[in-house]
Amino acid sequence: MSATTHRYRAYIALGSNQGVSAEALNGALTELDALAETQVQKVSPWYRSAAIGGPANQPDFLNAVCEIATGLEPQPLLQALHRIEHHFGRERQVRWGPRTLDLDIVWYEGVTSTAPELTLPHPRAHERAFVVRPLMDIAPDLTLHGETISHWLKQTENQSISRR
Ligand code: AMP
Repeated sequence: MSATTHRYRAYIALGSNQGVSAEALNGALTELDALAETQVQKVSPWYRSAAIGGPANQPDFLNAVCEIATGLEPQPLLQALHRIEHHFGRERQVRWGPRTLDLDIVWYEGVTSTAPELTLPHPRAHERAFVVRPLMDIAPDLTLHGETISHWLKQTENQSISRR
């Protein structure tokens, strides 16, 4: 790729509650960084959070958020995330069920979309402490849906989450 390719900033949420979650998150970060025209710029601390929705008695999730700089457009980026998820054996049979690896695009610089296959910013990220808390660590100045990260942090403070 030419050195003049514009790189866009984006935030990716990573989560895992099945298998060796730390390996899945580390592996996903390595694979993200290896994508064409893409570098991982910042990685949040890791958090442990209780599963929301889905079947009862799921294991806790391990969660983090990373900032990337990428020349990939949102749609090819999402396809790349799905490839990485599949590499780590994610199964999609149960909605909100346990998953080896879940990757979501939380926010992509300059892009809003209401398409169901790729909604930007992510339609639920701001309601989840496991996204908002790590975003506070690496992107405190970001706004989601017109509100600051500290606003969303307050809104989600009743959700169980702890630094791992
Ligand atoms: P989930 O199983 O909760 O990870 O949802 C995955 C589906 O959500 C995928 O089929 C995506 O096409 C869709 N989707 C919509 N917006 C986004 C987004 N911002 N990031 C990731 N997936 C998204």
